[in-house]
Amino acid sequence: MNQPYRPPLLAVKHLGVAFQTDQGQVLAVDDVSFELESGQVLGIAGESGCGKSVTALGLMRLLPRPVSKIKAGEILFKGENLLDLPIDEMHKIRGKKISMIFQEPMTALNPVHTIGRQIAESYSLHFPGMGAKEKNTASSQMLEKVGIADARQIMKKYPHQLSGGMRQRVMIGMALACEPDILIADEPTTALDVTVQAQIMDLIFQFRDATGMAVILITHDLGLIAENCDRVVVMYAGTVAESASVTTLFRQPFHPYTKGLLQSIPSLTQTAKEPLPTIPGNVPALSEMPAGCRFAKRCKRALMQCKDQRPGLMPVSSGHFAACHLVHDGEKNQILINNP
Ligand code: SF4
Repeated sequence: MNQPYRPPLLAVKHLGVAFQTDQGQVLAVDDVSFELESGQVLGIAGESGCGKSVTALGLMRLLPRPVSKIKAGEILFKGENLLDLPIDEMHKIRGKKISMIFQEPMTALNPVHTIGRQIAESYSLHFPGMGAKEKNTASSQMLEKVGIADARQIMKKYPHQLSGGMRQRVMIGMALACEPDILIADEPTTALDVTVQAQIMDLIFQFRDATGMAVILITHDLGLIAENCDRVVVMYAGTVAESASVTTLFRQPFHPYTKGLLQSIPSLTQTAKEPLPTIPGNVPALSEMPAGCRFAKRCKRALMQCKDQRPGLMPVSSGHFAACHLVHDGEKNQILINNP
């Protein structure tokens, strides 16, 4: 018997985000698409400024106004386009259905309110019928779940009185208070030392295992992606360069940019004297994006058509996509641009 169609938990389709700049309107995110299923961990990787965080803020409809706005696309959460929701409906989704944690918790925590009050606010917002005592108990239990032993004491403190790791735990506690379907974690461990990093990632995955929550992990750290994700989207200059399962991407990368990124990871067999391979050149400025492939000026395998024809995402194999003309034209005898 045919199963009834069930839409993916999240489907982002052709998302475009524009920013108003002195040089006019620029597309910081252009034609970004991906899907996410319950329990899945999707990594979004790429260098700083490639559009990872703008994509995440777009999903939450938290883009800074009026300088930026969503210009195109759909964000389908359980089949419903979040871009069509009135803002008060979106408030109900944020925090309850889709939560987000940031690299620096100080920017998300209110410095003038105690931790207890801030966690209780998450409950007030989404469970208005909850009494003060109930919220207090739920807040302290949530802090215990995120590994804070003396929860009652911590609830009386202000953010600046806590360490960076402790603040990140508090923020995760607030983000998970309502057991969201999706947690967006934007560079959640970048500001933390290595042991705390591992504890924070463990914490997120314990919740994922217990609740079936899906996670979008945004990071420039490919090691973190390799260790923790099921699928990965590699972004370059506001576009998706490649998407695949983690195993496929690390074993058989297709896109020249992904290959360059992977080659630039230090390996244990490398000697100290060997220079680390790098990708020559720089990411083009948003106001100077080429008409063709955005990676063309840095790509060693650029074809003539790469200069003015923008490649869309094309299937390389099952579940593996790359935005690169080499998917179709790699075997033909093409004239290459003489890049470094
Ligand atoms: Fe290189 Fe062309 Fe592929 Fe872009 S489309 S990555 S320039 S080969």
